[in-house]
Amino acid sequence: MLKYLVVIVVVFVVGWLLLRGRSREASVSSRKAAGNAPKAMVQCSHCGVHLPRHDAVEDSRGAYCTEAHRLAGPRKSAD
Ligand SMILES: [Zn+2]
Repeated sequence: MLKYLVVIVVVFVVGWLLLRGRSREASVSSRKAAGNAPKAMVQCSHCGVHLPRHDAVEDSRGAYCTEAHRLAGPRKSAD
């Protein structure tokens, strides 16, 4: 009788650990997904570097990586 009780307790504990691990994994992966949400990228019209839109300096001619490149304006394409 005690043998069955031990088996039941072991099954319960293993099941509880598996459920706990899975729910923690799910919350971590959903948090990770939120943190890795794709950010809009833009390309500097002067030097061509790619940067997140929220870091870019934008004007009517386009987006730039820095204020200096915005003042310099779009690079004239040589090719
Ligand atoms: Zn630039």
